Amino acid sequence: MNVKYLCPFCRSEINPNQNIILSTKTKHNHVGLVLLHEEMGNYSVIVSPSLKIEMGEVVEFFCPVCHESLNTEKGEHFATYIRVDDKNKESNIIISRKHGEECTYKIDETKKVESYGEYAKKYRNPEWFLFKE
Ligand SMILES: [Zn+2]
Repeated sequence: MNVKYLCPFCRSEINPNQNIILSTKTKHNHVGLVLLHEEMGNYSVIVSPSLKIEMGEVVEFFCPVCHESLNTEKGEHFATYIRVDDKNKESNIIISRKHGEECTYKIDETKKVESYGEYAKKYRNPEWFLFKE
């Protein structure tokens, strides 16, 4: 399946192969790259070997191209980017920035929410990510 992931700011493709590449900063200000699998619900993660992230630590995610912060405005530890499927349909992806907290939400233009990961039930109403008050 030919899926593209885009930065919501510069709309650069952030998955040149099957991995989504994000620039990361830890709470100790260590920086590096994190690669997430493009398949929804696949939580194999590749982290730069020099980057030490503790279990449960909340990291910052940035676009690797324009360096804008991908943090959501609401919610304490989530990040967002765009997914374009093989039929050219766009949806918003919400992921947790907490290391080890496996949850992903996919929200399409009709506000339909699909959730993935063990922790997804913890946050019952992810639709509020879409709106600014
Ligand atoms: Zn960008």
